[in-house]
Amino acid sequence: MTRELTCIVCPKGCQLKVELEGKKVLSVTGYTCKRGLAYAETECTAPMRTLTTTAPVTGGGVVPVKTDKTVPKELLFKCMEIVNKSYVDPDAKLGDIVVENILNTGANVVTTRNVKI
Ligand code: SF4
Repeated sequence: MTRELTCIVCPKGCQLKVELEGKKVLSVTGYTCKRGLAYAETECTAPMRTLTTTAPVTGGGVVPVKTDKTVPKELLFKCMEIVNKSYVDPDAKLGDIVVENILNTGANVVTTRNVKI
């Protein structure tokens, strides 16, 4: 089976073709750097994503948050359920941890700005 992907590692957006046998990667073409090759292999075997969402602030409102590392794509919705119930202190600053080691992925969910602007 052939899978066509757009590499999302950098803005160049190389078009990748991956030859697969089941979940086994046989070959990758179209990449112009090693990061693209790694992306294609990971995307076809164990896709990872950065979670970007918002978390509720105690007392009202929300603050944007993201994971500081990628997490397995299949866990994104479970991660969002946890973040949606994780209230952030109104005095929280940019980079404060909202959820530590979410779902044992090794990634922390952190604020991407001060709550008070
Ligand atoms: S293969 Fe390399 S150059 Fe091409 S989009 Fe991916 S990271 Fe960028």
